[in-house]
Formats: sequence, C-alpha cells, structure tokens
Amino acid sequence: MISRKKVLVTGGAGFLGSHLCERLLAEGHDVLCVDNYFTGTRDNILKLLSNPHFEMMRHDVTFPLYVEVDEIYNLACPASPIHYQFDPVQTTKTSVHGAINMLGLAKRVKARILQASTSEVYGDPTHHPQEEEYWGNVNPIGPRACYDEGKRCAETLFFDYYRQHNLPIRVARIFNTYGPRMHPNDGRVVSNFIMQALKGEPITIFGDGSQTRAFCYVDDLIDGLVRLMGAPDEVTGPINLGNPVEMTVRELAEKVIAMTGSRSKLAFKPLPVNDPTQRCPDITKARTVLGWRPTVDLETGLGLTIDYFRGLARA
Ligand code: NAD
Ligand code: UDP
Repeated sequence: MISRKKVLVTGGAGFLGSHLCERLLAEGHDVLCVDNYFTGTRDNILKLLSNPHFEMMRHDVTFPLYVEVDEIYNLACPASPIHYQFDPVQTTKTSVHGAINMLGLAKRVKARILQASTSEVYGDPTHHPQEEEYWGNVNPIGPRACYDEGKRCAETLFFDYYRQHNLPIRVARIFNTYGPRMHPNDGRVVSNFIMQALKGEPITIFGDGSQTRAFCYVDDLIDGLVRLMGAPDEVTGPINLGNPVEMTVRELAEKVIAMTGSRSKLAFKPLPVNDPTQRCPDITKARTVLGWRPTVDLETGLGLTIDYFRGLARA
C-alpha cells in the first residue's frame, strides 16, 4: 500500500519533468506541476490535464512560491546548451534563485527536496569516468558557465540547507538522457541527429566527433530519481545517474543513420567552446546505495525515440 503524497515537480512540463509527473501519478500521488513554459510545452502534459490528481501552475521559480506539499523535485532549468545560453543571466537566476525559493519552501513545509543537478558540474573532466568525489574542471567565465556554475551553486545551497537546517535533501547528477518528448528543435545531440536523419538533412557533427558521451533512456533515469527520493534520509547524494555505455558522437551519428535507414551525410561543424571531450558516469554509488542500474540499451531506447519523432512528423 502506497500512501498518497502531494508532490511538487518544478519544470514538470519539460522533457524529464513530464515523464516524472506521469510516473508519480501512476504511483498514486497528487502532482502539482510548476513551469513557466520556457522550454516545456502544454503538449507534454496534455494527457495529464484531465487527471483530477494533476494540477498545473504557470509560475517562474525565480519568484517565491507558497504551496503545501510533502516532496519537491526541482527540475526547472533549461537543459540544452542552445536554450541555456539564450538568456544566460536568467539561466543562473533559475538555478540559484530557483534553488533558494524551493529550499525555502521545503524548509517551511518540512518537505523532502530533490535537485536535478548535472554531469556538467564536472565541466570538461580531467578524470575519467567521473565519480561523485571528483570536484570537476569548470571554466567559470565561459559560455557554459551560466548553467554549470548555476547548478554547482544550487548544489552548494542544498548542502548548506542540509547542514544548517537539517533539511532532507537529495542531489542527483544526471548524465545525458534522451527519449520521447525531447523538443525536436532543442539542439541536443540525440534529437538533432534523429530529426536530421528523418528529414534526410546533413548530420551536424561538432568538431571531429571524437568527443564521448554516455546516453541514458528516460524511463531508467526517472526510476533513478524516484528511488533516490524514496531512499533513507542519510542518502543525500550527490549521486550519478546515467548509463555508463560510452561512445563517440560520431558513433552515435552512424547508429542513428543506420537505424533510420537515412541517406543523410555527415557534416562537420566547429566544436563549441568548452565542449567536454570525454564524459561517462561511474554509477557504483547508484548501484550499491539505490540498487539502480539502467535496463534499456541504446538500440531499444533509440528505436522508441525514433518512433516518437516519426509520429511528430506525421502529426
Ligand atoms: P527541459 O528544457 O525539457 O525542461 C526544463 C523545464 O523547466 C521546462 O519545462 C522549462 O519550461 C522549465 N523552466 C525553465 N526555467 C524555468 C523557470 N524559471 N521557472 C519555471 N520553470 C522553468 O529539460 P530536461 O531535459 O527535462 O531537464 C530537466 C532538468 O534535468 C533540468 O534541471 C536539467 O538541468 C536537468 N538535467 C537534464 C539532463 C538531460 O540530459 N535531459 C542532464 C542533466 C541534467
Ligand atoms: N553535438 C553535435 N552535433 C549536434 C549537437 C551536439 O556534434 O548537432 C555534440 C556536442 O558538441 C557535444 C555532444 O554532441 O559534444 C552532446 O551535446 P548535447 O548538446 O546533447 O549535450 P552536452 O553533453 O554537450 O550538454
């Protein structure tokens, strides 16, 4: 028997947030989704709007929020480099003021609070694969800093609220995650490559494509977040969540071309400034502490994602 909780999901109309809302509703909770629709859409949550246990509130987390909830998942923040660099000052405000507001709310209502942090806190890592003890290699004044440093400062705030106010916190460091409901134009590598392949356009590889990433399917990631929230209070994290199967960006492009049967050719473009050269999570902690490991392999996950984007093109 699961006890019904009131759960706040900030950024709930986004890619990960909408999947999380769906999962929490399926588990029998009441979900309050807060989003300013900067990168999220009503379409992502359309089928949830008629659920009496789901409520949507248009709100910007850089402003205080007064609601009564038992748990908070703080996901509000644009995640794609194109979007977070569009208005970098607002990106930092969203991470920092957003964290202060949500932590203040959690403290007032005595709620557990989980922060969606990121592998970007490791910057362009000099240590590989990345485990949680690694402090990272971030350029504090580069074009990615609004996101990386904003997320690092949010982690600082979470741990200060934990030490100073004994707040039950959870910090998840999320590595590249993909799946249905990524925005088709959000500029991230998986959605870009699939859209380009389906349209027969050139596949844009930044740099020579030798930089590596490890890609996690959305359902696995959501399962990790829910397990982390449900873990005993001493499990604060930070804890890496990602699929540790590392590949180059070029290998990903070739896989997408093969799986879509596309005739697209590779087009090499300049590498963005401070683009991390090598990234892969060490998930020993998630495995041992949460009993979590990814279960969806790249082939299966990409297949589901390609089907989703094909469906969008037909709609
Ligand atoms: P997304 O852009 O699809 O979702 C972010 C959501 O936050 C959107 O719905 C957006 O409208 C909302 N938002 C942005 N600023 C806001 C504000 N000021 N107030 C209220 N809502 C606001 O991105 P996503 O991939 O779903 O990422 C969700 C979270 O997970 C983010 O915090 C991101 O940093 C983190 N994360 C994601 C990944 C990934 O690979 N998807 C990796 C690491 C970390
Ligand atoms: N990338 C690419 N072509 C694209 C989009 C991205 O080669 O059209 C590369 C990008 O330079 C990076 C990797 O793919 O090395 C992952 O990029 P993404 O923006 O998805 O996430 P990041 O891990 O950089 O935040």
